Amino acid sequence: MHELFTVHQFPASGNHADLPAEVRDQVRALAFKGHSQLGADIIDAFPNIGLIANYGVGYDTIDVAHATSKGIAVTNTPDVLTNDVADLAVGMLISLSRGIVGASEWVLSGKWANTGAYPLQRTLSETTIGIAGLGRIGQAIGKRLHGFDADLHYFARSEKETPGWTWHNDLVSLAKQSDILIVAVSGGPETKQIISAEVISALGADGLLVNISRGSTMDEEALIKALQSNQLRGAALDVFNNEPNVDARFLALDSVLLQPHQSSGTVETRKKMGALQRDNLSAFFADKPLLTPVS
Ligand code: NAP
Repeated sequence: MHELFTVHQFPASGNHADLPAEVRDQVRALAFKGHSQLGADIIDAFPNIGLIANYGVGYDTIDVAHATSKGIAVTNTPDVLTNDVADLAVGMLISLSRGIVGASEWVLSGKWANTGAYPLQRTLSETTIGIAGLGRIGQAIGKRLHGFDADLHYFARSEKETPGWTWHNDLVSLAKQSDILIVAVSGGPETKQIISAEVISALGADGLLVNISRGSTMDEEALIKALQSNQLRGAALDVFNNEPNVDARFLALDSVLLQPHQSSGTVETRKKMGALQRDNLSAFFADKPLLTPVS
């Protein structure tokens, strides 16, 4: 980044006002990384920007409407992270379903030698799996699960061209039909708590839930209550409402697998995400078409 552009680091305090006004006036593009809010206040504090280049596919924390109203473009980093996110979603599901983390602990703690065989787990193959949100990542998850002979169902606003997967335009209907629900919808106000108490209840006491989308898509209060009262068999979560401060009640549960928002966190993918972000910045400064605009 520093080799290509004149870079001013955002203040470590997190307060844009700590950057002198004359520096903010010079800035023509924001390279955004992270999951903090990039709202109208920050956008307005940089009067000469024409681009917000996001490092990530999800741009729910950026006020895109405000940026667009001011003629500021927003780009993201789609596709390059799809495989890693889908891999982790499936990995989390296998681990949750077969108790892999607990089984490893069983060996490490000496319980295998001292108390005997690990408790029986549950089969994953040939189950009915619902995917909420069949975008790039949802489809990649579906392709992987096809190999498990799963009966695949999905929720989307419109029917997709898929090889025999069943479309639902209602999440409660999808959850009722599914043994397992994987959440891969975009975050943001429109999908806030789309995985509601009703959806979680429809999944049932034998159900498993996997969320790799955003914490905001989940009614966490309803999820915690369902897990505490065994109204849901388990949940594997890579994303939370108040990251990185995970609700302490999750930590007391045996029926969860918790990940630190790391679905795209591989050396290879993060390199590709950085390159795509830089390419969008270069295109902007060269007055060429942006590679991956969201607006
Ligand atoms: P995508 O191709 O744009 O797919 C987004 C999906 O969300 C589509 O299926 C879309 O449904 C659905 N959707 C969007 N707005 C909706 C609404 N208002 N109501 C119902 N459904 C809605 O995006 P992607 O590349 O698959 O990424 C999906 C999300 O994964 C990202 O937005 C991000 O939040 C999350 N993600 C998480 C990680 C991680 O580290 N855990 C990493 C990367 C991405 P339609 O098909 O009906 O339009």
